[in-house]
Amino acid sequence: MKDLSNYSLLAHNTFGIEARCSRFLEYSTVEEAQEIALLLKSPYLLIGAGSNLLLTGDFDGMVVHSALRGIEKIDATHVRCGSGEVWDDVVAWCVAHTLYGAENLSLIPGEVGASAVQNIGAYGAEVKDFISSIEAVEIGTGKQCSFSREECQYGYRDSRFKHEWKNRYLITHVTYQLSSDSSLQRLDYGNIRSELEHRGINQPTPLELRQVVIDIRNSKLPAPKVMGNAGSFFMNPVVERSKYEELLRMYPQMPHYYIDENHEKIPAGWMIDQCGWKGRSLGPAGVHDRQALVLVNRGGATGADIVALCQRIQHDVHEKFGIEIHPEVNIV
Ligand SMILES: Cc1cc2nc3c(=O)[nH]c(=O)nc-3n(C[C@H](O)[C@H](O)[C@H](O)COP(=O)(O)OP(=O)(O)OC[C@H]3O[C@@H](n4cnc5c(N)ncnc54)[C@H](O)[C@@H]3O)c2cc1C
Repeated sequence: MKDLSNYSLLAHNTFGIEARCSRFLEYSTVEEAQEIALLLKSPYLLIGAGSNLLLTGDFDGMVVHSALRGIEKIDATHVRCGSGEVWDDVVAWCVAHTLYGAENLSLIPGEVGASAVQNIGAYGAEVKDFISSIEAVEIGTGKQCSFSREECQYGYRDSRFKHEWKNRYLITHVTYQLSSDSSLQRLDYGNIRSELEHRGINQPTPLELRQVVIDIRNSKLPAPKVMGNAGSFFMNPVVERSKYEELLRMYPQMPHYYIDENHEKIPAGWMIDQCGWKGRSLGPAGVHDRQALVLVNRGGATGADIVALCQRIQHDVHEKFGIEIHPEVNIV
């Protein structure tokens, strides 16, 4: 078990914010997770790779990280992974073993534990589609538990681990159920199909689909190693139909996604762009020039700089559209 004091979290957040914690604890086995579960005292923070995290200052408490590794095929389609495995390594592993299902989630930063907390998703697929079970250790008792997908109550980037189970469990393993045939493949989202056609591919292998997704993502999103960021900073707001119709009269080109007969989703990135923020900066914090939903650290930004930019954008979007947008990123 790693147990370090006054530890820098710079390598543990993709925004590249310099912040320290009083104590950093890392488990590499279930037994170590149990030991930590029994000694944790508030305040504490559970982290993966910190790719959905904005640190606004030093954390005066314990930070816990999983370094529990291992990717193991337990039968023809089930793969059990340690929570500290890098998510994209798991996708690469599945693809190399001709298991279908995870390809659309290629290159999403972060680790296995968080995949099950966040219900990561991209290009028409969500990890909940192929999560089979989650193993964890209960904080306070050290008891080992296992949860089915149904028990985790997955929603859009949401799960029970973000609400009533928040800070209650240290995830140790996630088991995914992939498919040995192409039934889990999702090709009709974004420009996946057209990109495959462009490459003369009709029925892609998992490897071919993964490569297309990687190439599309690389052309659109800034790599955190090049420019600090946490992916989509804001959630896309879901509005009442009457509000959506009012806006559509003012902005006939407004993109939107049907949710149900009473609600419509409006892309926050489009609204931010309409407010003139795309590519702009406020001090060392900025809005990415190709993707307005992504806030970036242009170099040396503090958490406070990013928060200040976030608040200016929220204010401007509210003033122009009368809609409140909220961060998807965990601000600590
Ligand atoms: C460039 C970029 C692109 C991105 N694109 C996407 C995308 O396409 N789709 C998408 O869904 N997300 C995307 N994200 C967001 C991010 O990658 C995901 O939210 C990811 O799952 C976070 O993983 P992490 O390991 O960094 O977790 P963290 O950000 O460290 O933590 C996320 C949550 O998981 C909890 N957690 C982490 N590990 C454990 C554990 N072992 N036990 C219990 N709780 C734990 C934390 O407490 C926290 O609540 C992107 C981020 C970046 C930087």
